[in-house]
Amino acid sequence: MRAAVFHEPGKIVVTEVPVPRIEADEILLRVRAASICGTDLRISRHGHFKLPPGRPRILGHEVAGEVVEVGSRVSGHAVGDRVSLTPNVGCGRCSHCRAGLNNMCPDYEAFGITLDGGFQEYLRVPGLALQRGNVFRLPETLSYTEAALVEPFSCCYRGQRAVGVGYEDVVVIIGAGPIGAFHVMLARLAGAEKIIVSGHGGRRLEAAGRLGADVVVEVPRQDLAEVVAEQTGGRGADVVITAASSPQVQSEAVGLLATHGRLNFFAGLGRDGTVPLDVNALHYKGLTLTGTTGSSNADYARSLRLAGERRVRLDQLVTAAFPIERIDEAFEHAASGAGMKAMVVFDGDKEVLP
Ligand SMILES: [Zn+2]
Ligand SMILES: [Zn+2]
Repeated sequence: MRAAVFHEPGKIVVTEVPVPRIEADEILLRVRAASICGTDLRISRHGHFKLPPGRPRILGHEVAGEVVEVGSRVSGHAVGDRVSLTPNVGCGRCSHCRAGLNNMCPDYEAFGITLDGGFQEYLRVPGLALQRGNVFRLPETLSYTEAALVEPFSCCYRGQRAVGVGYEDVVVIIGAGPIGAFHVMLARLAGAEKIIVSGHGGRRLEAAGRLGADVVVEVPRQDLAEVVAEQTGGRGADVVITAASSPQVQSEAVGLLATHGRLNFFAGLGRDGTVPLDVNALHYKGLTLTGTTGSSNADYARSLRLAGERRVRLDQLVTAAFPIERIDEAFEHAASGAGMKAMVVFDGDKEVLP
């Protein structure tokens, strides 16, 4: 079978490798769709602290596929099942795992980081992932492509739950990439009064408008703070979500909030993780600042349901799809900022581009 193997930063090679053999407590998936995430881009460029140098790994943690083999000791799964995976397999013993927060487990395994992920034709699902509830049966209404996209969507779902968007809220989303777009869909679904999205113009910002943003702000040509003041009669935003990895953005986000405003730092900052914070604004306006990372299996289950009920159409975000031999082009598309989500799809899959 073909697999895209990451060897070291800057080096992913598509090669022929043996189909993985499964143990009695495992299942084998034929991967049907896998999308490229910012995390894959980061690992492909800089590696990952959980991935020792020199250890080849197959990346890709936004995955859906068909069960083609089931170990003799596995129950609840059958050949032909259509499934998707959540990437983070918790240890099952720590306080976070016991609270159902596998996304916060300090001792996790993860598809695409410590376990081989979706950029290959067949994927072995270890028994641990089955036992910890990381494998989900897909609703019939959902394509494999959409199912792969439920993972990043579920992370946005978690972020938005942290700030509790509702029908009286003016919501500002900073960043018009795929994550910003998922946040637009969720804020729309929650009935937000007004959604303002900022980005660097081009197709991504246009897409934010199509997906339900009421106001799009092209920065730096326009001043986001000015537009927010205009749009709210000087009051400020009830909710701000950062979906852009810029220190300046994170720092300025606080200044956009109304009294009792809520902020979700959705985007991390990598090495530039420290920014100045206006503590007086926080204190006198009674602000709530939150941060979220990843999603729990429970968040994922709810997100899968929203997508399956067609209350959000995740496939609207797919702007390119490539066979695995051309995965470098998929990475380029994802990195370019020209489109939204780039998919890797496999032989015979017709359901590709919208
Ligand atoms: Zn991801
Ligand atoms: Zn744990």
